[in-house]
Amino acid sequence: MEAPVSLFNPLPIESWLPTKQKPLIISGPCSAESREQVLDTAQKLHSTGMVSAFRSGVWKPRTRPNSFEGHGEKALKWLTEVKNTYGFPVAVEVATPRHVEACLNEGTDILWIGARTSVNPFSVQELAEALKGVDIPVMIKNPLNPDLSLWMGVIERFYINGINKIAAVHRGFNTYEKSRYRNEPLWNIPIELKSNFPELPIICDPSHIAGTRSLLKDIAQQALLLDMNGLMIESHHLPEKALTDAAQQIRPEDLPKLINSLKIPLTNEENPCKELEFLRKKIDEFDYQLINTLAKRMQVVNEIAHLKADCKMTILQVKRWNQIIETRTQDGIEKGLHEKFLKNLLDLIHKESIELQSRIIK
Ligand code: PEP
Ligand code: MN
Repeated sequence: MEAPVSLFNPLPIESWLPTKQKPLIISGPCSAESREQVLDTAQKLHSTGMVSAFRSGVWKPRTRPNSFEGHGEKALKWLTEVKNTYGFPVAVEVATPRHVEACLNEGTDILWIGARTSVNPFSVQELAEALKGVDIPVMIKNPLNPDLSLWMGVIERFYINGINKIAAVHRGFNTYEKSRYRNEPLWNIPIELKSNFPELPIICDPSHIAGTRSLLKDIAQQALLLDMNGLMIESHHLPEKALTDAAQQIRPEDLPKLINSLKIPLTNEENPCKELEFLRKKIDEFDYQLINTLAKRMQVVNEIAHLKADCKMTILQVKRWNQIIETRTQDGIEKGLHEKFLKNLLDLIHKESIELQSRIIK
C-alpha cells in the first residue's frame, strides 16, 4: 500500500461532537419518512439522555427503482425542527454536490458519505470539491467492497480539500460468503485503517453490519473492545413500519437497554496496568524468537534452493509440502492452535519460500 497523505491530523471527535455519554451515540431513523416520525423518534431519543447527534437519510440510495427514495429537501426542514426542538446536531447522507448545497443552505450540522458513494472516486472528488473551504464535519462510511485503500482514499480526498473534522464509519462489507451478517464486519480492515491513521476517529454502525436487531449487541461490544470512538445505531418510533431497513432499527425506548448491556472497556492510559507490561515483555521476547526462527528457516530454504538448482529439480514438490501441512497442523492443533490460523500461517511461509527459491534458481 502507498503511504497515506503525510501529516494526516484530523481534529479529535470531542472537539466537534462533545459528549459526556460513553460510548458516544449517534442515533435516528434510517430514513426521514414523515415530520411526525422524525420528531417523535427524536423526542424519544432525547428522553434517553444518551444521544449526541441525530442521524437520518433524506435521499435514500435504493437497490431497485420505484422504492421509497426519501423526501429530500422537505425532510431537511424536519431535521432542522429536530435540532431546534431538542438541540441535537443533525447528520445527513450526501451523495451529490446538489445534496451538499441543499444541506449547507439548510444549516445541516454533519454530513456523511454513504457506502455506495465511497466506492466511486469520481463522486467522492466532486463532493470533496463541493466542500472546499467549508467548515463542517464529514463522516465517511467504508465502501461496500472490502478495500482498505479505497476507504483511505475517500478520507484523504476530503482532508486534502480542507475538511479536518472527519470520522470514519465502519458499516461492514459486501462479500460473497453466506453469513449471519447483512454486511461482514471484517474487523481487520478498520483495525488497519486505525494503524494507518492513528488520529482518525472511527465510529461503528452495528445496524448496517447486523441487518437484524438481535445481532446489534455483540457487534457493538466488539467495536468497543477494539477502541472505536462511538456507535451509530438506527432507531425508529415504529420499527416494524419502517420504509427502509425495518429489521435492523430499534425503538428509541430500547436504546438504553442495549447501551447499558455493553461493557465499557478502559484504555491503557485510563488504567495503566503493571501486569500487562509484564506480559507484553513476554510477547516481545516470543516475537523476537519467532522472527529469528523464521530468518533461520529462510536461510535453510536458501541452501535448499541452491541444492535443487544443482540437482536440476523442480521447486514445488507437492508431496513434501502436503506432508509439512499435515504434520505441522496436527502438531499445532495438539498445542491448542486453531486449524485455520495454522493453514494461513503455513501458506504464507510456503509462498515466501517458493518466491525465494524462484529468485535464486532463475
Ligand atoms: C444509512 O446509513 O442509512 C445507509 C444508507 O448506510 P450505508 O451507506 O452504510 O448503506
Ligand atoms: Mn439504513
